[in-house]
Amino acid sequence: MHILVINAGSSSLKAAVIEAATGERVAELSTDRLPDRGDHRATLHPFMLELREKVSGIALHGIGHRVVHGGAEFTGATRLTDAVEAKIEALNDLAPLHNPVNLAGIRLARELWPEVPHFAAFDTAFHHSLPRRSQTYALPRDLMREHGIRRYGFHGLSHQYVAGRAATFMRGDYRSLRLISCHLGNGCSVTAIEFGRSIETSMGMTPLEGLVMGTRSGDIDPGIPAYLHRKTGMDTAEIDALLNRQSGLAGLSGAGNDMRHILERSTEGDPDSQLALQVFTHRLRKYIGAYAAVMGGVDAIIFTGGIGENSSIVRHRAAQRLDYLGAVIDEDLNHSARLTATEDVIEFSRSHSRVKLLAIRTDEQLAIARDCAKLLRKEDEVNTLPTIPIAISARHCHLTRETLDKLYGPGYALTVKKQLSQPGQFAAEETVTVVGPRNRLERVRILGPLRSVDQIEISRTDEFFLGLDAPVRESGKVDNTPGCQLIGPAGSVDLEDGVICAWRHIHMTPTDAERFGVRDRDTVDVAVDGPERGLTFGNVLIRVSPDYKLEMHIDTNEGNAAKIDSGDSGVLRGTHHAGTLRRRATMVT
Ligand code: ADP
Repeated sequence: MHILVINAGSSSLKAAVIEAATGERVAELSTDRLPDRGDHRATLHPFMLELREKVSGIALHGIGHRVVHGGAEFTGATRLTDAVEAKIEALNDLAPLHNPVNLAGIRLARELWPEVPHFAAFDTAFHHSLPRRSQTYALPRDLMREHGIRRYGFHGLSHQYVAGRAATFMRGDYRSLRLISCHLGNGCSVTAIEFGRSIETSMGMTPLEGLVMGTRSGDIDPGIPAYLHRKTGMDTAEIDALLNRQSGLAGLSGAGNDMRHILERSTEGDPDSQLALQVFTHRLRKYIGAYAAVMGGVDAIIFTGGIGENSSIVRHRAAQRLDYLGAVIDEDLNHSARLTATEDVIEFSRSHSRVKLLAIRTDEQLAIARDCAKLLRKEDEVNTLPTIPIAISARHCHLTRETLDKLYGPGYALTVKKQLSQPGQFAAEETVTVVGPRNRLERVRILGPLRSVDQIEISRTDEFFLGLDAPVRESGKVDNTPGCQLIGPAGSVDLEDGVICAWRHIHMTPTDAERFGVRDRDTVDVAVDGPERGLTFGNVLIRVSPDYKLEMHIDTNEGNAAKIDSGDSGVLRGTHHAGTLRRRATMVT
């Protein structure tokens, strides 16, 4: 499938026709120096005409546009319509430097190629999975709600792409890995990707937060703008321009924003460039350590973007002395690493390093082309998908033989109270008391049959009640989770781990999965028509097994919040494949 990918910026325009299946560039056109003609449309117009000329001989299946800000609305690539355009326009306030020019490009292209389907791919979309605790700033909540103030995160296309490449390279499943991805280009950001989901990222409501960048300051004391205003009389627009365009590497070094130049000057002994490099890499190390702490460990640290892919010095400064994390750099490999079109992943950790250090060539254009191709294939399907029954799971536990023996006596056999919808599963007559640091929950139902690990599944409300901080996890993933005490009639057990907030999920058979065009452990959005308001559950995990029956499981909090009961049903909306991990020639997605 030939997809034309267009990235329209205020001073640059990059476009390529890509064969989505192979990544081959069929045609390319880019310019870094668009003349400013006053309005975006006028600036882009001549280039767009040139582009149309250039690709005139190629049959285009679709056109993908990169859009920086998708707000809370867009959780994946989306077919462009007038209504979608209007929604993107409504986000202009959140991204005044980026979205208006992206939109001008979209409008022009839709006029020039009216017969080709157009799509928008968003830099924010991958981060839609950020948990609320990392999305939320500590500002008055009504104010944040009213103005859409929260962490959105950016560079999502790149973070998702390199995470997928890392997983393939490590021959692991993306959704079993904890990754820290450092995108270091003109803009820079770090993302913590836990089991396939972005759970923390350094850019915030705007791309200004976080790392030191080419011309952006990244994190500063929020008191500085007011201080600057008082001291210098600068107004908000001037301060905004200062932080976005005159700060970062350029501001520190006084020698521009090009890392190559700063590295040269540092080597020559220029103290300002040396300090710029030190502040840049120090900030990056700080984030790497913080994100390892957030995930309770890390399996690979990825460096990408122009600086991350090419600068062994920056990688060295960021990744040395991370032995405490389990990451041991191989200085020779780091120094000799050269990424090319064919060798797009290089490992530069020592062979005994538990954590892999990887330099990966990112390809945001290919990520966009693949997203478009996926949506196009989906549109070809007739929409005859079944609705998905919903069941609400109350708090419960799965126990091992050993634990049940201690709680109910050796060899104790559970009594079936009720068969559950998933074949073979049952709710037992027996219950246990779950004890946390603050409180205890009585009569928590045991589900059978017995398992190989103990697992206690509670809701967010239970978590606060018990005084525990349990992560959202899929069933079976209990490493790095808190423990608790269980009490039964014959004794008690102290569990070291095992308490989770169950990740909402859909059980289905391989046949269902094929019909829905999803795979085991993809995440999807499910729309539900509640009695009071329609609502979409994002981030619903797909679990596929021949033994399952089609059913979505949410917890009591979620059921209450959406005012839905067991027996309601939902329909599948968006699908978020962990994307680029494995290529599936035959998958209809
Ligand atoms: P963008 O974020 O605009 O896509 P890139 O990812 O191309 O930008 O990154 C641009 C940055 O990469 C610049 O700061 C540039 O100096 C830096 N860079 C490119 N090549 C090298 C290199 N060999 N060594 C160090 N930095 C490099």
